[in-house]
Amino acid sequence: MFYVKESINDTLEIKVEIHDDNVFTTCPDCGVEICVDISELFSDGESDLYGTSIFCPECSKSILNERQG
Ligand SMILES: [Zn+2]
Repeated sequence: MFYVKESINDTLEIKVEIHDDNVFTTCPDCGVEICVDISELFSDGESDLYGTSIFCPECSKSILNERQG
């Protein structure tokens, strides 16, 4: 099991288990919240937590269209 740990103050700390359905990011283009399957994301061995942006389906579509056109 993996979890994230955050200190709220000196005596309080929270741990949240990471599952494939409770990791989120925001689309860098429109800011919408997207659920991310991190096991899938990092399975290519190249993604990293800071350099990886994930676009929402709508923005991905328009980016693909721009590249094709
Ligand atoms: Zn978007």
